[in-house]
Amino acid sequence: MASLDQRCKALTKPARPGKKIHNAEGRRQIRLLSHVSVKIYRVTRQRRSRVTDVVDSKTRSRMMSGIRGKNTKPELALRKALHSRGFRYRLNDRRLPGHPDLVLPKYRTAILVHGCFWHRHEGCRFATSPSTRPEFWQAKFDENTRRDREVQQLITKQGWRLATVWECALKRSEQVTAVTDLLAGWLPGSSPIIEIPPPAFEPSEA
Ligand SMILES: [Zn+2]
Repeated sequence: MASLDQRCKALTKPARPGKKIHNAEGRRQIRLLSHVSVKIYRVTRQRRSRVTDVVDSKTRSRMMSGIRGKNTKPELALRKALHSRGFRYRLNDRRLPGHPDLVLPKYRTAILVHGCFWHRHEGCRFATSPSTRPEFWQAKFDENTRRDREVQQLITKQGWRLATVWECALKRSEQVTAVTDLLAGWLPGSSPIIEIPPPAFEPSEA
């Protein structure tokens, strides 16, 4: 059994910062610490909202997925589907230009899974242009497409076949199956290049 002293102590715990208390004269006041922390909180919120305003939330989420680049959800889905069909591949093989997402040595083939936004899928609804800082984005996109062209040329020059798969073709599981069917048919052949969907395709689903 706790002593009377201990029980009294438990009842008179010091007030938390921010708690309204009564001072010696019986007047209500707010602890100074709580006052300071409220101020800091308000400044932080203002700063955060200024940063967020630079790009809209859609753009930000695209930026985040672009930063990841590798192992995106569509790429993982395609990898899984190819693997279950018995295709074996290496990931990001450093021996090939641009370290392609998938390399199938048996078919001397590299597969690139391209995000439509970052790699500027022509005519695709997902290749939108942010309204803020247009010059900045244009420079970024130009550099991406220039590098893509260069990588494609280098890979094919080295005698490798190249499949480019756009992420808009891998949104739903039935699409992933369709793409895998296409690749399964193309891989044993001799055609040097395939693009899925073919150029000028318009995705039907958001
Ligand atoms: Zn696309």
